[in-house]
Amino acid sequence: MKFMTDANLGSLTKWLRILGYDTVYWRGNADRIFLAKAQKDNRIVLTRKRELVKRQFSGRLLLLKTDLAKNQLQEVLTEFSLRPDPGRMFTICLKCNALLADLEKDAALGLVPAYIFSHYSRFRICPVCGSVYWPGSHKDRARDFLLRLEQEN
Ligand SMILES: [Zn+2]
Repeated sequence: MKFMTDANLGSLTKWLRILGYDTVYWRGNADRIFLAKAQKDNRIVLTRKRELVKRQFSGRLLLLKTDLAKNQLQEVLTEFSLRPDPGRMFTICLKCNALLADLEKDAALGLVPAYIFSHYSRFRICPVCGSVYWPGSHKDRARDFLLRLEQEN
């Protein structure tokens, strides 16, 4: 399941990527071109723009009802009956939506802060922007966040 988010949904985009869902973030206007691109790439459109619903569009579109990313994520998970798979979390670059590749510890030397290098043994790298990821604090935060979402259901 692939998504395309409009420019108002930066936080939601990040969360979908954390969960491992391929999500293109559209920085331009949420217009006909945006819809055409989503349809061509077979992506589900996520938007807060009510007027988009009225446009002629044969693809799938979810009009989000809430403003907070946390609630929006819940809307998406519920609407499409998605159960986040921990094994897929942190497999996508949060910045550019590319699939991350494993990075040998030795290769991470100099690419991450020294204390990170000495504390972690598993790293991943984005082949597009070169960002390096490791199972750090934001991963724990994300796990807590998801756990809370599940408990609220
Ligand atoms: Zn990247």
